[in-house]
Amino acid sequence: MQIAEEKLIFYYNGNVQKVPSYHLIEAALDERGDYLVEFYNEFLIDIYVLLDDLDSTYIAIDWDNTVSADPEFFIDLIEKFQKAGYTPFICTLRAPDKENIAEITSVLEARNIAIYLTDGQDKYDYMKNLEINVHLWIDDFYPSICREICPLLTKNGID
Ligand SMILES: [Mg+2]
Repeated sequence: MQIAEEKLIFYYNGNVQKVPSYHLIEAALDERGDYLVEFYNEFLIDIYVLLDDLDSTYIAIDWDNTVSADPEFFIDLIEKFQKAGYTPFICTLRAPDKENIAEITSVLEARNIAIYLTDGQDKYDYMKNLEINVHLWIDDFYPSICREICPLLTKNGID
């Protein structure tokens, strides 16, 4: 596998439980030569992996500066999640218009993955309104999930 030119630094709070989905990410990052840090440093971290509902299988993955930062890596990770029984989907603040959907589907091709476009609404509230509990949030910008400090962020060592 080709090594990404710029390595990404992922964050997963060292004090929360190491769940099976975490180990999938860890293995994918090892393959890629990217880094996983367990301490919060907003100046260092490129992409946050936040644990939410332990019992859910839904994994919310941001688009801009997350998948778009390294599509090849994320497509591989999405397939790893699907094979392991998780349901990854795209969750972006972008507006739900045809161009945005076309751009995302053209990169992800025929992979069986839902796309939620919140149109600027906090992602946490948006998914709660749809009654979808999220297992992991993967995002470069955690205020897009909760604008204010919320229990999800606190639990994941961000305050
Ligand atoms: Mg983003």
